[in-house]
Amino acid sequence: ATMPPLLSAIANAGRHGVLVKSAVVMERLGQVDAVALDKTGTLTEGTPQLTDVVPLAGGRLTEGELLTLAAAAEHPSEHPLARAVLDAARARGLAVPTAHGFASAPGIGVTATVGGRTVRVGAPARLLGETPHGPAAAAVPVTGRAAGAVVAELEAGGRTAMVVQVDGVAAGVLGVADRVRADAVGTVAALTSLTGVRPILLTGDNPRAAARLAGEVGIRDVRAGLLPGDKVAAVRERQDAGRRLLVVGDGVNDAPALAAAHTGVAMGRAGSDLALETADAVIVRDELAAVPAVVSLSRRARRLVV
Ligand code: ADP
Ligand code: MG
Repeated sequence: ATMPPLLSAIANAGRHGVLVKSAVVMERLGQVDAVALDKTGTLTEGTPQLTDVVPLAGGRLTEGELLTLAAAAEHPSEHPLARAVLDAARARGLAVPTAHGFASAPGIGVTATVGGRTVRVGAPARLLGETPHGPAAAAVPVTGRAAGAVVAELEAGGRTAMVVQVDGVAAGVLGVADRVRADAVGTVAALTSLTGVRPILLTGDNPRAAARLAGEVGIRDVRAGLLPGDKVAAVRERQDAGRRLLVVGDGVNDAPALAAAHTGVAMGRAGSDLALETADAVIVRDELAAVPAVVSLSRRARRLVV
């Protein structure tokens, strides 16, 4: 017997390295008329490298001590930023102690107890607001630079900055750089022409890094500094206006948006388990260009079905 068009489309998608979870999903992929993409791990390769380790005077730590505490706190995290911190600590031959009481907040960062000290690593916008060394206290003279100034400098260079807080004090800033995927520009262009609607970038990262990447890949509609719930709100806003959104993401922070989307696609290689489970389809081979390819496959199959 000849295979029904949607089933052969699923087989075809598999050849493109995309796991489409059902015939219903295969059909829905061709219905999307707008697209929202995550930044870290989706438009970027998601293997950021640590570029800067900057101890702040208030923390009284050396670079090595700062990186050791951050790596210990990040150890249980599956976030790409956590991997960058751990790889850097290992590359420097640092012994990373075991952390206790690990907790992570998607889009914000991690917290854990390391050698009796409470260590938090995360988004400057979230952590600096809660510490006496934050912007509110910028006027307090400290030897060395204030956290906000270091963060601003890193972000102006297109980096993602993380603040390391030790026992409530901003002890240092870490900077990471991530590469744009080779097929990001082509994929954004292909998705734009398929949907006829300008794509949006949804990211928890800082506005400066977001704007820079958006410019590189040709996205003009940028929403940065988003928590997972904010990503959902951005998706709903457009769907309430009648759009059928294709959301592409990789992180735990993207899972609610993937669930809210008309169709959610997860990046499989570095993607979090939660994103892979929540998404309707998974890019198994690490090629973003597979996304417009499966949308086209779906459209062709649907023409055969109807
Ligand atoms: P994106 O939407 O670009 O994939 P996320 O929502 O995952 O980004 O993260 C947003 C921000 O939250 C990061 O830029 C970082 O500042 C902070 N963050 C999230 N997870 C971690 C982590 N494990 N360690 C440090 N910072 C983190
Ligand atoms: Mg991501």
